[in-house]
Amino acid sequence: MSEFIPVNTPSLTGNERKYVLDCLETGWISSEGSYVNAFEEAFAARVGRKHGIAVANGTAALEVAITSLELPKGSEVIIPAFTIISCALAVVRAGLIPVFVDADPLTWNMDVSKLETKITARTRAIMPVHIYGLPVDMQPVIDLADKHNLYIIEDAAEQIGQTYNEKVCGSFGTLSTFSFYPNKHITTGEGGMIVTDDDYFAERCRSLRNLCFAPERRFLHRELGYNYRMTNLQAALGLAQLEQLDFFIEKKRNMGSLYHELLSGVPGLQLPLRETKFAQNIYWVFGVVLEKSPAINLIDKLKEMGIGTRPFFYPMHQQPVFQNMSWKRSKEQLPVAEHLSEMGLYLPSGLSLTELQIKRVCDTLKEILQS
Ligand SMILES: *Cc1c(COP(=O)(O)O)cnc(C)c1O
Repeated sequence: MSEFIPVNTPSLTGNERKYVLDCLETGWISSEGSYVNAFEEAFAARVGRKHGIAVANGTAALEVAITSLELPKGSEVIIPAFTIISCALAVVRAGLIPVFVDADPLTWNMDVSKLETKITARTRAIMPVHIYGLPVDMQPVIDLADKHNLYIIEDAAEQIGQTYNEKVCGSFGTLSTFSFYPNKHITTGEGGMIVTDDDYFAERCRSLRNLCFAPERRFLHRELGYNYRMTNLQAALGLAQLEQLDFFIEKKRNMGSLYHELLSGVPGLQLPLRETKFAQNIYWVFGVVLEKSPAINLIDKLKEMGIGTRPFFYPMHQQPVFQNMSWKRSKEQLPVAEHLSEMGLYLPSGLSLTELQIKRVCDTLKEILQS
């Protein structure tokens, strides 16, 4: 049988080896090391923000960002139902209440037309999360946040380098967050970043990331922080990856185009939109939604035939972990998120994927669907 095609394989062929070796040779391997600052500054500059705060992963970035706001316990934060658990857990861990919004059936992002009905007297923030390849329609989010005096926590983990109306994702939040997990557009193995223009919140995030040491006296603490520091080794990888971001984006877009070319017109298969009014798809992953049968059967068959895939996200309002929490609304229905979660899967989308592999994925997929 031909070789297994994994769902993700990163591309590490730039200066990664050189910079990581530099850490090893100089002995700077912890978070004290010059690559951390260099990566923070280069990354913040790339997304046009004043501050970059590197952390251990994207989930930590969300936790620190939300905690830095010091919202009163029980405040509500509006988040998409169709996303990763990291978004909801950051809200819940901060003692806040997540309020879920359904997804748009075509872009798979938070349906912004349903946002305003979710705003109550207790709402303090909105968390737009750019899903898979297309950004959230940000203008309505910004308008509502202005009107109701809400913070925006923007999760741009899946769309490093994407733009919305020519403004880069990560430039819209009071605080915006990223992940550098190996399937993201750039990777540090594990890693994350918070970016902001706000000096006060930047300082709060730096402090929370590093155990909240008091400025005037080491080992004195007035607040419980986290050790969510990024190491110099990770930042060395990140800096080398960032140098290649434009190339990676182009590569993902070419992969997306090839998938479209090979899969368009296949009956029963919904493909991602190539573009919206405000962005071209960046194809963090190439997701497809089946029209007739749950994705799970196809996932199993593809695996048998040597192709790795992943199911779509599981809806937040149906997560077992939340069912007994006091804030959980019973019998909540968010039909689009539920549909996507049942019928959607994504195909191999890693940066090292070859055209030949994409062709094999598409041939196999068509063979299964037509049998
Ligand atoms: C990957 C991801 C995260 C979590 O990042 P980790 O680095 O894996 O903790 C958060 N939000 C979104 C939208 C993601 O895709």
